[in-house]
Amino acid sequence: MTVTGLPGVSGTTRPGGLTGAQAAARLAEDGPNAVARPHPPRLLRRVGAQLADPLVSLLLAAAAVTTLLGDWADTAIIVLVVCLNTAIGVAQQVRADRAVAALDSLTAPTARVTRDGAESVIPAAGLVRGDLVRVEAGDIVAADLLIREAYRCHADEAALTGESVPVARESGDELFAGTVLVTGRAVGTVVRTGAASALGRIAQLVATTSSGPTPLQRRLARLSRVLGATAVALCLVVFATGLLAGRPLLLMALTAVSLVVAAVPESLPAVVTLALAQGARRMARHRAIPRSLHAVETLGSVTVVASDKTGTLTEGRMTVRRAVAGGFHARITGDGYCPQGTLGGVSDPPPGALSELARAGLLCSDATVLPPDADHPGWTAAGDPLEAALVTFAARCGLDPARTRAATPRLAEHPFDQATRQMTTVHRDGDGYLTVCKGAPETVLAAPVVDPADPDTAAARRAATELTAAGLRVLAVAAARTDTPGSPIAPTGLRPLGVVGIEDPLRPNAAATAAAFARAGIRLMLITGDHPGTAAHIAAQVGIWAPGDPVGTGDRPDLAHQVHVYARTQPEQKLAIITELQQHGHVVAMTGDGVNDAPALTRADIGVAMGGGTEVARQAADLVLVDDNLTTLEHAVAEGRRVYDNIRRFLRYGLAGGAAELAVMLIGPLLGLGVPLLPGQILWINLLTHGLPGVALGAEPAEPDVLRRPPRPPDEQVLGDGLLRGILTIGALLTAATLATGVYAHTAGWPWQSMVFVVLGLAQLGIALASRATRPPGTRWANAGLLAAVALSAAAQLAAVAVPGLRTLLGTQPLSGSQLVFCAVVAVLPGALVAAWRSLNRPPAVPPVQRR
Ligand code: ADP
Ligand code: MG
Repeated sequence: MTVTGLPGVSGTTRPGGLTGAQAAARLAEDGPNAVARPHPPRLLRRVGAQLADPLVSLLLAAAAVTTLLGDWADTAIIVLVVCLNTAIGVAQQVRADRAVAALDSLTAPTARVTRDGAESVIPAAGLVRGDLVRVEAGDIVAADLLIREAYRCHADEAALTGESVPVARESGDELFAGTVLVTGRAVGTVVRTGAASALGRIAQLVATTSSGPTPLQRRLARLSRVLGATAVALCLVVFATGLLAGRPLLLMALTAVSLVVAAVPESLPAVVTLALAQGARRMARHRAIPRSLHAVETLGSVTVVASDKTGTLTEGRMTVRRAVAGGFHARITGDGYCPQGTLGGVSDPPPGALSELARAGLLCSDATVLPPDADHPGWTAAGDPLEAALVTFAARCGLDPARTRAATPRLAEHPFDQATRQMTTVHRDGDGYLTVCKGAPETVLAAPVVDPADPDTAAARRAATELTAAGLRVLAVAAARTDTPGSPIAPTGLRPLGVVGIEDPLRPNAAATAAAFARAGIRLMLITGDHPGTAAHIAAQVGIWAPGDPVGTGDRPDLAHQVHVYARTQPEQKLAIITELQQHGHVVAMTGDGVNDAPALTRADIGVAMGGGTEVARQAADLVLVDDNLTTLEHAVAEGRRVYDNIRRFLRYGLAGGAAELAVMLIGPLLGLGVPLLPGQILWINLLTHGLPGVALGAEPAEPDVLRRPPRPPDEQVLGDGLLRGILTIGALLTAATLATGVYAHTAGWPWQSMVFVVLGLAQLGIALASRATRPPGTRWANAGLLAAVALSAAAQLAAVAVPGLRTLLGTQPLSGSQLVFCAVVAVLPGALVAAWRSLNRPPAVPPVQRR
């Protein structure tokens, strides 16, 4: 077994490696260690993609028809609509791609490299040949490495070979880029980077990560096709009835074409892209980095959040508070990882049994504690916080960690293994050998590690039960001194030394976050590898568990839809739990940070990795929480719901307007309004309403109640939950206002057609204003772009009857002051009614979800 002083702490210096200058020169020579990315699409292709949209194709067909009919004015307006829409669409697409690229770079892989004798973490793209790189379990190997030192190093080469059984790699072997270190550690020299590396050679396989349309985008595309077909059918009705009424063929053909253009919400794709990209940017600003636009959208419909415990619900800052050894019970005081602290309830210096427990725990740990420095006001842990707690405990027992470790050097080890929940080390101890095993009491205080009949075993088990009930994370330690070195792989015949109870404080906002999820109709579950007693204790503090509630264990995934707490669960078992939840119709967000969590992260609807977790977990996840804090997920869910709300907001506005235009054209003639609107007028209204104000609606802030209502059912239709009814109601209001104006003006002998035109346009803008999100005090000016867009469009609408040139183009007539006032008053009504209705029907807050 090769163990040659591998550093366990980053920042450690080691000889060898390149100098910064050498590395810079190599980088200039070889280029970055990156797999060639597909070129972003050129502008022309982007424009082509926008024009290929079915709705836009319909517009182009309409332009062809108007050209054939020789109607240049209408052709011009349709072309203007297409140009404006394409410009907005391309701009949104470019911004969305930039946002995704920015997010990508935030979660780009990193590597631990030693240069100028010091280790640091750099973006993997900066690696060059000759670099000295350290990899640890959970890392994705960033370049092809020639291993110099390896310890229990197993690599999963599935990404390269498809073989999922990890292979052992020794000193002298190569570790290939793109493979995952599953266990152990290694230090190696970079031999190939970028396209020359193993990963580069299969680059075509990995480079195709470009995100296709999200499920929502696909569903909306289907919706637009249905809308397009419906619009065409209805326009044929208008066309036919017009002909039957004896109107000129040319006029009716143009009218039908213009109506198709009007009824179709051609800016929908741009709105969706804007909403998703903006959502992604805002999530990232809140330290939750979505790894695709898809994640942004799915986050809004999450119904279950399955969280791990340590470091997510708790601070992951651990302190040994209780220690039991040889009949002595000590209560330990002291702050965090600071070595100062006292042992209460025992003599000073502490009894030998306690010192022995502390020394063994220290020797069987890799972590170190670091004194305060410029960046950190207090002592900090380097390495596993649980092991840092043991180091601190040893210091509080009067041991000097560095000296003790040096005096009892480690010869072999079996690192912590989540399957056995224990870790074993073998040391030289004076003229003999010491074997230490620490881990979960169930495995350490049992055969074959210790003798179950030993009275000390029974005492230690009792102590463990007592400390678990107090909500502490309990670790048992066993050891044996022998004349020949023991085996670290299968320790046996050890003597129980005692147990320690470790406190890991709940994050201050954990309970508030759980309550927020409950208000949002989201079930928070705790899934942990820890003991059921400890898990239940933490869950009770979080407020998701009460005495008497069941606690599941990893071997019972079938209980997933009814329990809130899973203890003694191995990462592999999370997969079955997720599947069970998904079968019950849940949309699951699951946190994870280890190598073994990757499959579950992939399976979950939203895999959530921690910024501080392993590279593998981060790359498998859909969302990375930079600050490891579950509260951040709450913001991301709110953001996802906002995106969906805004898309529906646009649909309500855009489709109601289109429906009204169709209805006016269909019903108007029955009321004596021969041709309610000329083709050009319909197109003008469409340009003003669907254009800027429509897109601006996609950027509305979140409703104050986003997190106080249940998630939308995953299978709900885009137009479901009353949206279709809303569209029809608002469409009816717009139609009524417009036709009433027409009929009245017709009787009064006013220029009724121009008044119909002005009212229908302005009333839609009123609906845009009434569709704004409710703004809490102080945020009145959020999304001021919408106000500007509405003002601009209203001005253009009035200009159409006021500016002589536009009058000629659109066939409108000037309106008198009183006629304009009449129009303005009527146009305000639909929006005012909608606003009044909304304020009367504020959705009631959902009561917190009851625990079962
Ligand atoms: P969690 O879900 O809280 O992160 P883990 O799977 O990390 O739980 O740990 C499960 C159990 O394994 C712990 O309760 C503890 O008993 C034991 N354990 C954790 N870390 C170590 C370690 N470094 N050495 C030995 N045992 C450990
Ligand atoms: Mg853990």
